[in-house]
Amino acid sequence: MTLDDTSARLSQVIGGKSAQAIEKALGLTSVGELLRHYPRRYAARGELTDMRTLVDGEAVTLLAEVVSVTSRPMQQRRGTIVEVVVSDGTERISLTFFNQRWREGTFRTGRRGLFAGVVSTYRGRRQLTHPSFDFLPDDVDEDPERVASFAGAFIPIYPATSALSSMQIARAVGVILDTLGPLPDPIPEAVRSEHGLIGLTQALQGIHRPADQPDIDHARARLRFEEAFLLQTVLAQRRAELAHLPARARVEQAGPLLREFDARLPFALTAGQREVGDEIAADLAGDHPMHRLLQGDVGSGKTVVAVRAMLSVVDSGGQAALLAPTEVLAQQHHRSITALLGPMAEGGMLGGHDRGTQVALVTGSTKAAQRRRDLLRVVSGDAGIVIGTHALLTDTVTFNDLGLVVVDEQHRFGVEQRAALASKAADGTRPHVLVMTATPIPRTVAMTVFGDLEVSTLAGLPAGRAGVETHVVPVAERPAHVARAWERVREEVSAGHRVFIVCPRIGDDGVEDAPLVEDEPERRAAAAVLDTVEQLGAGPLQGLRIGMLHGRMPADAKDASMSAFADPAAEAPIEVLVATTVVEVGVDVPSATVMVVLDADRFGISQLHQLRGRVGRGSLPGLCLLFTEALPGSPARERLDAVASTTDGFALAQLDLLQRREGDVLGASQSGRRSSLRLLQVVTDIEVIEQARAAAIAVVDADPALDDHPALRAALLELVAEDQAEFLEKA
Ligand code: ADP
Ligand code: MG
Repeated sequence: MTLDDTSARLSQVIGGKSAQAIEKALGLTSVGELLRHYPRRYAARGELTDMRTLVDGEAVTLLAEVVSVTSRPMQQRRGTIVEVVVSDGTERISLTFFNQRWREGTFRTGRRGLFAGVVSTYRGRRQLTHPSFDFLPDDVDEDPERVASFAGAFIPIYPATSALSSMQIARAVGVILDTLGPLPDPIPEAVRSEHGLIGLTQALQGIHRPADQPDIDHARARLRFEEAFLLQTVLAQRRAELAHLPARARVEQAGPLLREFDARLPFALTAGQREVGDEIAADLAGDHPMHRLLQGDVGSGKTVVAVRAMLSVVDSGGQAALLAPTEVLAQQHHRSITALLGPMAEGGMLGGHDRGTQVALVTGSTKAAQRRRDLLRVVSGDAGIVIGTHALLTDTVTFNDLGLVVVDEQHRFGVEQRAALASKAADGTRPHVLVMTATPIPRTVAMTVFGDLEVSTLAGLPAGRAGVETHVVPVAERPAHVARAWERVREEVSAGHRVFIVCPRIGDDGVEDAPLVEDEPERRAAAAVLDTVEQLGAGPLQGLRIGMLHGRMPADAKDASMSAFADPAAEAPIEVLVATTVVEVGVDVPSATVMVVLDADRFGISQLHQLRGRVGRGSLPGLCLLFTEALPGSPARERLDAVASTTDGFALAQLDLLQRREGDVLGASQSGRRSSLRLLQVVTDIEVIEQARAAAIAVVDADPALDDHPALRAALLELVAEDQAEFLEKA
């Protein structure tokens, strides 16, 4: 039997038990999915893994040899510790097993195997606690199938889990490869020969069971190109589609609302805001939908740009929607835009401004009666500006004439969400779309992830911005600095200013309470909002009005907290807001001057940059204090030092990208893309992406519906289905 349909269920090919184990450990269910689970690297047979480079906390799979096996009773409890020492010939590492005495017989001195686990150090010695392991076949009476699956010169090392070892995965993949027939190839023959790429079936054989290094290289080159090519083909198709879609052209000159708004603005627009505004106005006047990405650093004033675009659409008779990633942000936008518009936001209402429009807020937590009223204002067109969360995407929301969709802080929204809103325009036209992001995106990433968007960059910050100064506070080394920090917080509060305190987790969730293993150094859970509120209130910040904000609070409680914190005239003001990263994007409280980030090393670089953008937004200078227990010189500490040393968001974004794994980059910027990119490095594989892009555009130009490329079409359908599946999961 040969296998030529990779959509077949794994259980049909490798047996139910293995299939179940793989689904449970890796979430893979089809033959195709397992074939696309590539080895992370290869261990060369006969060459043991160099252990000098091991780092604590790293998950590793080592090819090593057993040197000794001993067991001893535990000190504080009943039971036994089995300690197996393995070596690469020079360095040694211990494998420890608690209460698994029978393990003693499993390990024989001199045997070689793969040992997988997380590296830690105990009493100066490296160890893996309860590693998963598998021995290389070395006996004649060994299962012949096992011997066969390790016959090559390279042993594939797969991303594995403690329940499913790399070798078990290799065996399952081997069974499939043995029966694999020629597969339809999504890369057209002409493209393959132009770029010197091997065929799909050969590439899959080569990546899982290479005979030599060139096998690996050719396989990787081909599969990497394929990833870029599929993505670029989707984007080329989308662009081609958009270029043919009708949109309603909106007038380019400023209408009465926009003129009034500009006149009311308490500040002058920056040159960048004016420039980008003109670009957008020109797009809006076109009769094909705008699809523009606006990137600008934290505080560069994107919201004003968006409001002006929205008003110009309302001026020409249409409606505009602003989609925010969180309820907190939607509410804040509603508050601040209503304030910016002043009496203009009461258009059509008794006593309202005659040149005005209503602003509606639609979120998941709006009460039913209010929601009905809001939806009515949306469908009638009375609300020219509609602000909301993903609740805006549901079927019950109907617009009168949706002309523009603004997506704020794009990285929480995927292509599919945008598409859902886009479909809400009337009579077959598409709305114009503006996507805003504060996370600067390198060109290749933009090309990969947002290849269907034009990019505008908002340069420079508005004048009069006092900015933010950042310091690292090493909690363990400098207790005096900690005390001084809390003192400073008290001073700011007495001066009438507001203070954010950010924690990595909410607390009371039990997630971090890992079982204590004897002899294992205890890992402290990160600071939690609930505990911190209590501890600070009873300790260094006693007497201050402390409030909290986190994702598990009901929406109205969140809103109440934000208002009490943001509004200087609030009845029961909050002076110190202890929060999770819900305050990360967009939250705008001009009187906030200090941000303390607890266990700052648990956050990424870009995240910290976003976070501190919440202070120093008004004319008051901001101070950001990064509390950490990370040791000087550790990578975590270096990241914090980098954040403290510059306020250049672009420089930090580059640094962040270099330090993060690819999947995370895309995961953060776009859902659904993570799963389709396994080998492609969007930051560094510039050349591949450019070649694939050119090839994709040529293919789509010549054959827009891909009638001559059924295999390519099928692969794209699968890719888009993955996107949708993830979208549905999230929604
Ligand atoms: P972001 O780009 O981070 O979304 P915002 O649009 O929230 O930035 O703007 C940050 C703050 O700067 C707001 O309080 C806004 O009112 C103010 N602002 C925007 N444009 C200007 C300007 N041209 N001059 C002065 N202040 C401005
Ligand atoms: Mg913003």
